[in-house]
Amino acid sequence: MSSFRSIEGKTFSVITLGCRVNHYESEALASMLENCGAVFNPNEAESEYSPDIIAVLTCSITSAADNKTRKILRRVRRENPSSLILACGCWAQTVSSDEAESIGVDILIGNRLKGSTLESIDRWFESKGYFLERRAEVSGNKLWDELSVDRPRMHTRAFIKIQDGCNRACSYCAVPSLRGAEVSRDPDKICEEIQSVIASGCAEIILTGIHLGGYSCCGTSLADLVRKISSIEGLRRLRFGSLEPFAVTDELLLALADSEVFCRHLHLPVQSGDDSILLSMRRGYTSKEFARITGMTKSILGDDAHISTDLIVGFPGESERAFSNSLSLLSDLGLGRVHVFPYSERRNTAAAVMDGAVGRGEIKERTSRAIGLSARLLSDYAKCWLNRTDSVLIESSEDGLASGWSEHYLKVYTADLKSTKKDVSGNVLEVCPEREVRGILLGRGVDDRYVLSSSEDQI
Ligand code: SF4
Repeated sequence: MSSFRSIEGKTFSVITLGCRVNHYESEALASMLENCGAVFNPNEAESEYSPDIIAVLTCSITSAADNKTRKILRRVRRENPSSLILACGCWAQTVSSDEAESIGVDILIGNRLKGSTLESIDRWFESKGYFLERRAEVSGNKLWDELSVDRPRMHTRAFIKIQDGCNRACSYCAVPSLRGAEVSRDPDKICEEIQSVIASGCAEIILTGIHLGGYSCCGTSLADLVRKISSIEGLRRLRFGSLEPFAVTDELLLALADSEVFCRHLHLPVQSGDDSILLSMRRGYTSKEFARITGMTKSILGDDAHISTDLIVGFPGESERAFSNSLSLLSDLGLGRVHVFPYSERRNTAAAVMDGAVGRGEIKERTSRAIGLSARLLSDYAKCWLNRTDSVLIESSEDGLASGWSEHYLKVYTADLKSTKKDVSGNVLEVCPEREVRGILLGRGVDDRYVLSSSEDQI
């Protein structure tokens, strides 16, 4: 078994905060620990026994995220007084050792060093529990922190991290200082990992990165990588995590369009629809250019491709006029799902010292209007899929009701009357939606085991 004897037989849990890259790193930590002979305990919160090891993938994207990380670490320490508590990632990258120790953290692992987690845990057990930290400067760091996932343990789909860091400087964002310079993963390593998660029975993979569009390694562009992955035998569905609009090229879109497994959904965070706000955000495109990018995307991937986005509400300097420019752009482009984020200042960013702060009350009022629009846009987009068959990856199935995400990234429910109510999670089913409720589709399974009846009231 492993060279880390102190870890064999230990029970462990993993708690994930933040982005999809964190979700990938959680799965990788779980793979590493389980392959070292530790025993995975998926439901830390529900179990009456404290796991020996609790790893928390932390987030520091905003001040609110910092507070949430602290709160969770304090709760975990309070409820598990004798467990080893490991804090990894973005919050762990910048917190002071004193604060971390005072909260009850035993080991701090910063970004680009998660590959050293097993060795750190082993050293902690050997040292009878002395506080340990593994952190290094990330700016300019071009090293890839090799982790790998053999099978997803906490998700039906597998996140595959292909890129880390960001060389851009959006004025509200601290990620470049937390995650470091852009670095991309060897394409062969990526394909090896995908083959192993497919062999474990996983039907869908999601490529993820901090700046996914910045992927480039050994002469392989993101478009090349899509072509390589799409030819991997047994892969049913390929998805992209968030892709910055300025990274969308026709070369990439053509590679996605040629892929038989790529799910026709792209998440392109616009953040604002007002040119003066986009300028002070340093996003690098105008509302007109964003419209051109979404138009190009629909013309190459198909008019019914789902384009979702992010909108920051209440950025410093955002007037009522600027805000309504954002709402009009979203409406005009016929986008689908819109994630709405009330602006939350992040220390050590350029935006944190900008004039023109918008009042909390105003931000709250605008956020609810933006959410209202988002609900209408999603419902309108979902209605386009009524009475049209789409494939759905079932993520949960209980008491005859199955639910999952369609290829076009819509939530779908379908009921199975004819089967013995067996769990069909992880299966990809063809479903023909008949009703739409608040952007959710209720469908009839195309093969006759799945017939919708009065399940609407169960949602
Ligand atoms: S592209 Fe901008 S928002 Fe995205 S991680 Fe980089 S700096 Fe942050």
